[in-house]
Amino acid sequence: MIRPRSRALFEEALRALPGGVDSPVRAFTAVGGHPVFVARGSGAWLTDEDNQRYVDYVLSWGALILGHAPPRVISAIQDAATRGTSFGAPSVHETSLAQALQHAMPSLELLRFVCSGTEATMSAVRVARAFTDRPQLVKFAGCYHGHADQFLVQAGSGVATLSLPDSPGVTRGAAADTVVLPFNALDEVEALFSKRPDRIAAVIVEPVAGNMGVVPAAPGFLEGLRAVTTKHGALLIFDEVMTGFRVHPGGAQALYGVTPDLTTLGKIIGGGLPVGAYGGRREVMQLVAPAGPVYQAGTLAGNPLTMAAGLAMLAELRAPGVWDGVASMAQRLADGLTVLATEAGVPLHVQRAGTMLTPFFTEAPVTSWTDAARAHRERFSRVFHRLLKHGVYWPPSQFEAAFVSSAHGDAELSQTLEAFRGALREEAAA
Ligand code: PLP
Repeated sequence: MIRPRSRALFEEALRALPGGVDSPVRAFTAVGGHPVFVARGSGAWLTDEDNQRYVDYVLSWGALILGHAPPRVISAIQDAATRGTSFGAPSVHETSLAQALQHAMPSLELLRFVCSGTEATMSAVRVARAFTDRPQLVKFAGCYHGHADQFLVQAGSGVATLSLPDSPGVTRGAAADTVVLPFNALDEVEALFSKRPDRIAAVIVEPVAGNMGVVPAAPGFLEGLRAVTTKHGALLIFDEVMTGFRVHPGGAQALYGVTPDLTTLGKIIGGGLPVGAYGGRREVMQLVAPAGPVYQAGTLAGNPLTMAAGLAMLAELRAPGVWDGVASMAQRLADGLTVLATEAGVPLHVQRAGTMLTPFFTEAPVTSWTDAARAHRERFSRVFHRLLKHGVYWPPSQFEAAFVSSAHGDAELSQTLEAFRGALREEAAA
């Protein structure tokens, strides 16, 4: 599919924006080619600047669980906008959205709205350090928690004693207090705690990893993290920016029945507008200013348009059958892909959690970043471009989750499976 206008617009963007984009993965670096410039979205569909239509499985990286421009959310935003776009003063929708979130996730005894997932995770770690009066943070390889310096760290092998920055511009100092361990390796976490029982402030985890592709927590992993952090007086932070309302209407904490001390949220809760939130145990969150001494603030935090959009989104998602419908569509897609790959004789492991999924081009199931990194990336890239040619906009990297919305129906599913069938057959023949 030739997209001359997208190409020209990208070339123009390259002169104004680093890499032509405002977030790296949009640039198609992992799959090659030039990105699609989106003109508009409606339901499950995107239309690009060349007037080509695609079934969208990116959905603003998971935020749009009702699809593009759902009428009730749009009218809530329009209605709010007529009353003002930002106040920098309290407004009632902030409390209402907080209450809606508390209803869905009772562990959020107190919460604070911010403007992105990155702000949420960064602030949650700050308050965890303040509460425990300890410096160190444990994260897991392949989990992404936003782009704050302390998260951009690559550990050495095994239990890292010397954490090194993963990006130029991150100082050794900022990286030094982050320890990276393998996802799903509870024994390594326990070993670390037994060595440094008084140093670790918090363990932060995507309870279902989505940023190395979908990798669920192994049985006992989250329960084990809960036990070891409690035992040693550290906090457990579930980063549910992606999994919140995606893997279960009550988040991964409801799916697994494990209650974290703090939770971070984003994406869906803003109804498609910029948002983040962090919250949890009252005694911890009471430390956040002005209730307590931990400073954290935001000019546009609790924005009235975002709050109205989030409330409308969650109300619609709560309607009987809506969330279950999205999950069952994701299941049908996952099952369909598995059947097609088996028919074509292409090794594929489709991993799904609720409404998100990743087809890994691997010989074996993926349980960690080491497994994920074995995926056949060139094959993924070829399949990606064949899908694009046949009107399916799949996330442009093997290591991203694909997302389904309530707007994805039978027609979208069959177009998608047809496109995959062709792509997998071509792969088998190659
Ligand atoms: N945490 C997780 C689990 C995420 O998936 C993301 C973004 O994809 C973030 C944090 C960062 O959120 P944002 O991009 O809104 O800063």
